[in-house]
Amino acid sequence: MKKRNTVLILGVMSILILISVQAFIIIGIWQQKNEMFALRYNILSKDALSFISRRMATDGFDTVRFLLRQYSEQAVKELHEAKDEKELAAKKKDILDYVTTVVNKEQDLSEFLSDYFGRRGFEKNFNYSIVINDLEMISNDTIVVYRSQDFANRRLPDRSGKPSPPESYRSKILVNWFPWEDNNYRLVFDYFIDFSDKQQLILKETSASLGMSTLSILLVGIMFMITFRNLMEEKRLSNLKTDFINNMTHELKTPLSTITVAGKTLEMPQIRSNDAKILETAKLIGKQSVHLNQLINMILEISMWERTQFQLDKRTVEIDEIMNDVINSFKSGGGNGASINQKYNFSGAKVDLDIVYFTTMINNLLSNAVKYSDQDPVVIDIEGFTADNNLCIKVADNGIGINKTDQKHIFDKFYRATTGNIHKFKGLGLGLYYVKKIAEAHGGDVTVSSKPGKGSIFTVILPY
Ligand code: ADP
Repeated sequence: MKKRNTVLILGVMSILILISVQAFIIIGIWQQKNEMFALRYNILSKDALSFISRRMATDGFDTVRFLLRQYSEQAVKELHEAKDEKELAAKKKDILDYVTTVVNKEQDLSEFLSDYFGRRGFEKNFNYSIVINDLEMISNDTIVVYRSQDFANRRLPDRSGKPSPPESYRSKILVNWFPWEDNNYRLVFDYFIDFSDKQQLILKETSASLGMSTLSILLVGIMFMITFRNLMEEKRLSNLKTDFINNMTHELKTPLSTITVAGKTLEMPQIRSNDAKILETAKLIGKQSVHLNQLINMILEISMWERTQFQLDKRTVEIDEIMNDVINSFKSGGGNGASINQKYNFSGAKVDLDIVYFTTMINNLLSNAVKYSDQDPVVIDIEGFTADNNLCIKVADNGIGINKTDQKHIFDKFYRATTGNIHKFKGLGLGLYYVKKIAEAHGGDVTVSSKPGKGSIFTVILPY
């Protein structure tokens, strides 16, 4: 139990560690791909900008600049004419709105870039955004129309004098920083691009490593499950073997001690002078020796089966007859007292069977029906019929029944539902194993249906 728990905990822990390591690697790869993606489009757009300026002598904002030059002269005047602070603020707002609209609407850069990306086989559908950092109107003096918080204090220009992009734009790709100065205005703005399906594009790129790590986690999980199940199975078998040895010792000891006691009895002078007693004791010894022999033969036979193929000595027999014989001899033997209802009718079907094994199989089912019962009288119904070239025999009892978990194992070697050393019902856990082996050797099978407290039905199907 302790070992099993340790293995389970270690296994689960190593799988969790594996998952965390894989997750760590995947996150790393994802971040790297993300950065590479941004870098790729950053470089690409820089190339595009220099291509445009070389070939077309523009930065994509010619119209904007033209419009702003016209507008700024008038705007400066209007600012100076403002009567009070309120009017000044309203005017500043108008100017900022106008500039923002013009910069966004009248630029050709986005179209140029999209075209440039598309021609080179890259993603051409992107969203752009323009962030104005600083707008000042200049005549004799300078009037600040707008200055973003970042530009004003937080953002320290780097060595090139370029301010770092605002926090909310970090996930976007900065194409360029545009500082303009004209006769009547100074404008500084950033141009960003962003791909709405960026995550999908990166996912596509990482899908191979993602797939591999999922697969490796799955494989390790499956391997762990198999190993753990094997361990459990080994443990179960070893428990069964221990039980079997205990039960067998008990089974062998009973006839042996009877023989020992009988031997001692024979030594007594008063017994030796009594012929009837001698005969009775001799019979007892004989009976117990036969029982002992049967037990040993059974064990030997089972171990023989493990090594060699099951050999059947088949003969064609009328099944009704064989069934009658088996039941009659059972009744005259250990089955005394049980009320057996013979409800079978095989319509004179002739079947190829190994009579010895078939008899053993039915006998085992009958003696279990008697053994595992606390009813008086024990009632056993034996049904039988032929259907679709199959022979069906049902042995039903009104005994203690078998619970669902045990039903799965009762045909296993050495398995006993009353596990351990409980000798209320004696046995070695081999009877049903025998039944199953014999049914299978005849090309058939045996199944059970049972309810604890109600009884059990064993169904043997044999093809013929
Ligand atoms: P054994 O009788 O030697 O224990 P078997 O292989 O014949 O071994 O049976 C395996 C187990 O199946 C038994 O220990 C018993 O618990 C259960 N079993 C078998 N037949 C019956 C039955 N007719 N009714 C209830 N339990 C049964």
